[in-house]
Amino acid sequence: MQTPITPFELGARHRHRVRSMLWLGAGVMTLMGLGWSIFFGMTGAWFFVALIAVFIAVGIGVGVLTYLRRTRLASYIFIAASFVIVCAVAWVLDVPSSEEPRTIHLFLLFLALSSGLFLRDEPLPFRLAVAGTCFAAFVGFASTNAGLDSVYALPDSVRVVGTWLNTSFSIIAMYTLVHVMVSDLAETSALGRELREGIERGEFFLLYQPQVTSQGKVLGAEVLLRWQQPERGLVGPDEFIALAEKTGLILPLGMWTLGAACEQLAQWALNPHTAHCTVAVNVSAHQLQQADFVGQVQSALERTGARAQLLKLELTESVLAHDLDDIIAKMAALKALGVGFSLDDFGTGYSSLSYLKHLPLDQIKIDQSFVRDVDTNTYDASIARTIISLGQGLNFAVIAEGVETQQQRDFLIANGCHTFQGDFFSKPITAPEFAAFVARQLP
Ligand code: C2E
Ligand code: MG
Ligand code: MG
Repeated sequence: MQTPITPFELGARHRHRVRSMLWLGAGVMTLMGLGWSIFFGMTGAWFFVALIAVFIAVGIGVGVLTYLRRTRLASYIFIAASFVIVCAVAWVLDVPSSEEPRTIHLFLLFLALSSGLFLRDEPLPFRLAVAGTCFAAFVGFASTNAGLDSVYALPDSVRVVGTWLNTSFSIIAMYTLVHVMVSDLAETSALGRELREGIERGEFFLLYQPQVTSQGKVLGAEVLLRWQQPERGLVGPDEFIALAEKTGLILPLGMWTLGAACEQLAQWALNPHTAHCTVAVNVSAHQLQQADFVGQVQSALERTGARAQLLKLELTESVLAHDLDDIIAKMAALKALGVGFSLDDFGTGYSSLSYLKHLPLDQIKIDQSFVRDVDTNTYDASIARTIISLGQGLNFAVIAEGVETQQQRDFLIANGCHTFQGDFFSKPITAPEFAAFVARQLP
């Protein structure tokens, strides 16, 4: 049986494809440039040779950036430079005559399509704008004889060679691109299907990572999603959350997580050791954008009988990049029910401190990247101290995540942070293990 592709491999394969296409683009640019500069050099047209030197330089530049794995920058330069060069050649050199049609603009079709691959992870409006600009320029050059009437316009005797070359190269480039894009899409949709089947078959389960105080009291737990995939084994959220968000499957998955976490709260309520425990659920931007998100949370609480005061929703700063007023209104409605909010991975996103005063938050979470070296790195120490005093000033509780050592814990306590989550206290564990953990911590 064929080994399934993991989402990590999927990302790596996509990047490999983008890099291959960039190599191809850089190679075609450089080779075509060299060919034409030899041709113009032989005919003594040094102005064109100089112009084409720029073309070659861009091709080599894209190749170097691709080699250095600066793929995003290489893609931008490749698309922008190719667009300018193709339009300039179409306008000045490849001016159609009654004998010979214009053909260089065929590369604009390739560019429009390639934006779907090169810019796949960029925002949709941006991708559409790039593709739309290329298509509009293509239609303009294909439908008119527009061009600069100058001494630089190439004679038909030269352009007839160009017609053969441009048509052949652009068709090969387009065929290769379509082949690459179809492979990319097929793999993504196969994995999306696996994820959907996983949800339907109940392959997901929750682990609980305790949140404790400096006195060792267990306040509750953060819920962390895991996927027990039959062929692949245990899969962590870093490998599937991004794909679930991309495919929209985060909505059913998030709903399921919320419901299961509320069910757990209701279970804990029956045990005097765990009755006070809160549960923190990670919520994606996609979920929060749902018009009926408040209703979904409310019905999960009602269905399970969980106490809203013990439910905490963890948002990341990326959530706040969307309609802030709408998010604040939803947060306020949930707060009115008793639900709490924590700002996850604080300090790692596009932090704008001004939103902090508008959001009805209860807690901020110091990201583990600052905690990791908090006791050895002066920058991380300053950042952690700043977040703690910010929380104190704004009346938010502060929790540190990813606490792995006694030294990190001691540093945080000395600086005023008294709530922790991390492997030093406990790794994420199952619900029965969590109940046992709470019992062990009792005085
Ligand atoms: P997060 O919300 O910041 O969760 C904390 C992550 O840090 C968890 O990784 C946890 O296992 C890990 N961690 C905790 N303590 C330590 C430590 O001491 N050392 C180290 N090295 N790591 C520690 P996990 O479970 O792999 O989750 C990764 C991310 O996936 C989460 O980051 C969260 O953003 C996302 N995620 C997890 N479950 C869900 C979910 O149900 N819904 C959504 N939307 N996202 C989720
Ligand atoms: Mg979290
Ligand atoms: Mg976090």
